[in-house]
Amino acid sequence: MSDSAVLHTEDLTKKFGELVAVDGVSWSVDAGATKAIIGPNGAGKSTFFNLVSGVLSPTSGNVSFNGEPIASKKEHEIARLGLIKTFQQTNIYEESTVFENIRIAAQMKETTFNMWARADSLTSVTERTEEILSRLGLDAERDRTASDLPHGLQRKVEVGIALATEPDVILFDEPIAGMSEEGRHEMLEVLSEISADPSLTIVITEHDFDFIMDIADEVTVLHQGAVLTEGTPDEITKNDQVQEVYLGGE
Ligand code: ADP
Ligand code: MG
Repeated sequence: MSDSAVLHTEDLTKKFGELVAVDGVSWSVDAGATKAIIGPNGAGKSTFFNLVSGVLSPTSGNVSFNGEPIASKKEHEIARLGLIKTFQQTNIYEESTVFENIRIAAQMKETTFNMWARADSLTSVTERTEEILSRLGLDAERDRTASDLPHGLQRKVEVGIALATEPDVILFDEPIAGMSEEGRHEMLEVLSEISADPSLTIVITEHDFDFIMDIADEVTVLHQGAVLTEGTPDEITKNDQVQEVYLGGE
């Protein structure tokens, strides 16, 4: 593990009965990096994310976040520490506007972390909401009701809700699964935009290798629950073993 790792796992294992879904994974991501975890369906990507984010508890092994062991913590405790998984526990308020959805998340952060909120805290909540809307290109959508938005834009709002809580790490589990071409394009834009933020660490799982090529600094290849290899997107593209897993896998 490097000293700059914000999140790391040590020999992390999850068994479902006889099946070893995650098999002794020792892995880390540096603060500020954008890292992808790729692998064919069934490789263990979602299970790995569920272990790291506290949705599941490991059979054995450790997870640490900002130097603190978190494997025994609950999902909401881990989220409060600043490690969140999108599209799962972020809930859109269907009847509220895009602006309100993001403002509520920003407000919750403010009241949770700042009990003696200063008089100007409402201004800062509004400012942060405005900043996120423009960052994600959602200005034109601000007054639309969330339930009226197409799938791709709803996902953007969910990213906005996640950003409003000012996390250190965001996990995206197959963010473009089931999306139209337009939705995929929009998600790519959003991920490129937020991955440029040096204070944010992003981990993305994908089975579509092409999608992560342009956004990831580093790629981990998971195969049958274990790390097959790691490298830059370029190195992974040229890796014969990886080609074999992909060509032989699905
Ligand atoms: P991926 O996200 O890479 O497609 P998963 O983590 O979803 O892979 O699954 C890894 C393996 O674990 C698969 O064989 C899957 O069938 C199995 N698995 C996942 N979740 C469960 C569960 N709750 N109970 C039993 N088996 C599971
Ligand atoms: Mg999955």
